[in-house]
Amino acid sequence: MGLESMKGMLAKAGKEQYGVGAFNTVDYASTKAAVTAAEELAAPIIIQTSVKTVQLWGHATVVTWMKDIAANSPVPVALHLDHCKDPDFIRQCIDAGWTSVMIDASAKPFEENLAITRQVFEMADAAGVGLEAELGEIGGVEDDKSVADEDAYLADPDKAEMFCKDLPLAVFAPAIGTAHGVYKGEPKIAFDRLEEIAKRTGLPIALHGGTGLSDDVFKRCIALGCAKVNISTQLKYTFIDSFVNYHQDHQAYEPVKVLTAQMEAIRKTVVDYIRLFGSEGKGK
Ligand SMILES: [Zn+2]
Repeated sequence: MGLESMKGMLAKAGKEQYGVGAFNTVDYASTKAAVTAAEELAAPIIIQTSVKTVQLWGHATVVTWMKDIAANSPVPVALHLDHCKDPDFIRQCIDAGWTSVMIDASAKPFEENLAITRQVFEMADAAGVGLEAELGEIGGVEDDKSVADEDAYLADPDKAEMFCKDLPLAVFAPAIGTAHGVYKGEPKIAFDRLEEIAKRTGLPIALHGGTGLSDDVFKRCIALGCAKVNISTQLKYTFIDSFVNYHQDHQAYEPVKVLTAQMEAIRKTVVDYIRLFGSEGKGK
């Protein structure tokens, strides 16, 4: 089908109350494994790359894999840039072929965040690229950003409505109590706030910090408006553990076997998430 914007994908998911998995992959193999899972379940999928991953391989290389994988795929696939603070870097991704991007100016004061987001929206929208923006500060560690849990603050519904007014984002990421990385205790999700923000903005909501949430929490968040569900940390664990475990169990120095085991582990993990999010069969 080729790569498509996440905008239509998420509008449909929001209306029908299921979640589209947005999986952070790091190379051709992990991307291929994740898309294979989506194909098996006929589900739409968002493949997202961190800025660090793009810097490692270069824009053109990532897009080459993605086009190869998506061109031969019967399901909708979006290529998304996860948390990016730099509008110039976003422009490079759009020019290279990313179909979705995130501007994260959430550390800036409200007015500045809004101004930067609007500027990036103009650029993305002109290229048919869907935009995600963040308000409030999601806790935990994401790339070079580290927010002490006590400093993480939730998005305010009045400000969220003001932020999104006349700004047709593909998806909105308000801080609702989730955190990146591994949870130290039971996360306190502000479900009431999530519900109010989804209603007042009328936009599909992105759920960040998905790793470690219970099945019930995922389902409740999706029912309240989370149409994009990000999974990054769990895939990092699966990526490393499957590689190390295969080697330890088999004492194998055969790269193809290790890579095959790694891809199979990633495929299985993504299959489980897609089923949980309710997007099976929604990519036909
Ligand atoms: Zn995030």
